[in-house]
Amino acid sequence: MEPSERGERPAGAIDDTFDNQANTLEHIHFDIFTLFPAMFVGPLGESIVKRALDNGLISICLHNIRDFTTDRHHICDDTPYGGGGGMVMKPEPIFRAVETVLNRQPGWQLAPEDAYVNLPEWNAGEPVSLPTGVPIILLTPQGRRLNQQVVTELSRYPRMALICGRYEGIDERVRSQLVTDEISIGDYVISGGELAAMVLLDSVTRLLPGALGDDLGAHRDSYSLGLDGLLEGPQYTRPPSFRGEQVPQVLISGHHGMIARWRREQALLRTLLRRPDLLARTTLTAADEAFLRRHGWPPTDEVGRQK
Ligand code: SAM
Repeated sequence: MEPSERGERPAGAIDDTFDNQANTLEHIHFDIFTLFPAMFVGPLGESIVKRALDNGLISICLHNIRDFTTDRHHICDDTPYGGGGGMVMKPEPIFRAVETVLNRQPGWQLAPEDAYVNLPEWNAGEPVSLPTGVPIILLTPQGRRLNQQVVTELSRYPRMALICGRYEGIDERVRSQLVTDEISIGDYVISGGELAAMVLLDSVTRLLPGALGDDLGAHRDSYSLGLDGLLEGPQYTRPPSFRGEQVPQVLISGHHGMIARWRREQALLRTLLRRPDLLARTTLTAADEAFLRRHGWPPTDEVGRQK
């Protein structure tokens, strides 16, 4: 199978622009493969994700990988070849679950009474072709790093599969033969892919028109196109004075032009102080550059060379 047929992209091939165009999709379906579906109940039942589910912007099917086992003890893991501690997730239940589900319409789920005993026909030795344009994403600390560009890119797929690893990880053949993308939520290790899948799902859902009740909301957040990839500046609400600290006068001036300029400068300043690396990828106006220069940008070394 050609990588491009399945929406696969080479590792490290992240588009290096802040291409966060407004999303035009009206609905995304997520198939989530996990050994712990109950972990999703709380996060999917609250706030923005719940509202997106209720309003039909997203749909989610949780597939318990264990339901796709046929042995007496429903085993999904085994000891690693070559020794070493921990257990490794077996390939067969994952292949069986993903190949069965993705070859059916979005929304299909194995009926609870069919788990283990009445599974659709499947042959472990025969590769199954899968629909094109449906990324099969493994959550792994070894994947490409999730950031707003990756989130935006993923928000353009009407359907995607998320595979949550557990234990010491999964059998390598899941990566080499089934998965089309690998995503990490950061350079640290958590105990399973479920929390990472929730982070991905939440960040993608926010971008769908209507998800925030304010279509511009997500596009004015830090890292987004509306902010040219900058960090958002400080925000205030009532009261105007709290413990001796006043809301900046400009915000209560009612002068929209000055407020917009102040917000832009605060975003520039905050980015300069916290994430100066982002400025290199931002489209800066002459006024932005003049403002940043007054605040010590670009950084120079001791002989005045630009760092
Ligand atoms: N032994 C694996 C390694 O060193 O790469 C780590 C296994 S981790 C304990 C178990 C599972 O948690 C992984 O298979 C993956 O699904 C998930 N996971 C852990 N850290 C993650 C991260 N930073 N991003 C995404 N998924 C992660």
